[in-house]
Amino acid sequence: MSTVSGGKTLRLRVTAAAEARLRGGHPWLFADSIREQTRPGQPGELAVVYDRKDRFLAVGLFDPASPIRVRVLQAGKPEAIDGGWWSRRLESAVSRRAGLFDEETTGFRWVHGESDGWPGLVLDRYSRTLVVKLYTAAWLPRLGETCALFADRFRPERIVLRLSRHAQQDLPATSLVDGSVIFGPPLGRPVNFSESGLEFEADVVQGQKTGFFLDQRENRRRVECLAQGRTVLNAFSFSAGFSLYAARGGAASVTDLDLSAHALAAGGRNFELNKSVSAIASCRRERIQADAFEWLAANTRRRFDLVVLDPPSLAKRESERARAISAYTKLASLGIEHLSPGGVLVACSCSAHVTRDEFFSAVRKAAGQSRRKFQILETTGQPSDHPADFQEAEYLKAIYLRAGGR
Ligand code: SAH
Repeated sequence: MSTVSGGKTLRLRVTAAAEARLRGGHPWLFADSIREQTRPGQPGELAVVYDRKDRFLAVGLFDPASPIRVRVLQAGKPEAIDGGWWSRRLESAVSRRAGLFDEETTGFRWVHGESDGWPGLVLDRYSRTLVVKLYTAAWLPRLGETCALFADRFRPERIVLRLSRHAQQDLPATSLVDGSVIFGPPLGRPVNFSESGLEFEADVVQGQKTGFFLDQRENRRRVECLAQGRTVLNAFSFSAGFSLYAARGGAASVTDLDLSAHALAAGGRNFELNKSVSAIASCRRERIQADAFEWLAANTRRRFDLVVLDPPSLAKRESERARAISAYTKLASLGIEHLSPGGVLVACSCSAHVTRDEFFSAVRKAAGQSRRKFQILETTGQPSDHPADFQEAEYLKAIYLRAGGR
């Protein structure tokens, strides 16, 4: 892949602070750090950043519509960004995941954006379907070549394109829309895949993220180990991922609580898919369609031995951070109210704007206010197929607490 626009290389000079950040390996160059630019740039063309002494600093994808003006592909030493370079980049993401998944897990992330050297691009596998999600329209001019590389490497049945809200806003006039099948036969229904030997469906065309919360696999496995004989509340259940693991782990009952009827129905179908597992077939299952905050506040008499709280991001932007932290405390307090003696709370946060420390403190605060005794069992972060190589890439964290008696 060469520069998209051809012509003369787009050259940039940046502030001293930005130079230092790029040297430190940070993958973003913000628009307000650019001091000189040889000409206007096109979306997706390669921009080369030089330091004050005219030495090469980095080359990346130019994005005129985004405050993240350049997403770094290569820093330190210059290299030709050609077909061989892209295949090596893909191989390094693949080898990073070597040995992580066997045939029991056919849904996972092959490429996790910046941290895998593919800034603004995610590639998920759902059995024989691949889903490419773009977080910037800068990838669109390269989509044909990128898709051909993925098709050649993985030999999928099909590739589906997903676009973030930002990428859609900046979409040039094209026939591509969020959910387009860009390789292989059309898709009329959700795709099925396996995770830890359980079967799931994913709506890769319209579902949240790329159709499933692949990032919660490790927490779901832990919940399976904690579930034996317990009554389980799965708040913000989506398609019942945590509930299926809990049921297989021998839970006495699982209660799925979600605002979305669509998500609860998908959860029902996922239970159907796994009914050959006797522990799942015999587990009592309750579905509640409600706002989790309201339901928890209103149904104070219900008790559970295991409560999972996995809300959507409560801080979509930096300005919402303080409010999100209070909301996490509030939610954890509500969860704790519903814990039976000896019960376990699993509280998760996927807000990148709230740090691990802030989130864990918010939950510990709720535990302190409850006047019950708690043991922290463990804290977890992102799974290995969702690596975070720089601070802004850290988003997922969870804390496990066990309540003492009342
Ligand atoms: N735990 C899930 C992922 C949760 S995603 C898993 O492992 O797959 C967040 C879910 O919260 C979505 O299904 C969304 O429909 C639901 N949701 C969003 N706001 C909600 C609210 N106020 N009350 C209940 N559910 C909500």
